Amino acid sequence: MSGTSQTVVQHGASGGSSAGQACACPECEGAIRFDRPPLRSQVVRCVSCGVELEVIETAPVQLALAPEVEEDWGE
Ligand SMILES: [Zn+2]
Repeated sequence: MSGTSQTVVQHGASGGSSAGQACACPECEGAIRFDRPPLRSQVVRCVSCGVELEVIETAPVQLALAPEVEEDWGE
């Protein structure tokens, strides 16, 4: 884990590309906000409906419903 969490940069209103990214949940259209730029294949959870979403694209951010993972992966 990295210790520093001072990545809150809010520069001018226009042209911002990475800070404060937000996306709409494809399931409920609730706002998904990222504290830091999301990574592709990252899975986030919608705080509104609880569905798991996978980041399929980062520029711009696109979310897709993450496949339901049944307990298949456990070794
Ligand atoms: Zn949702």
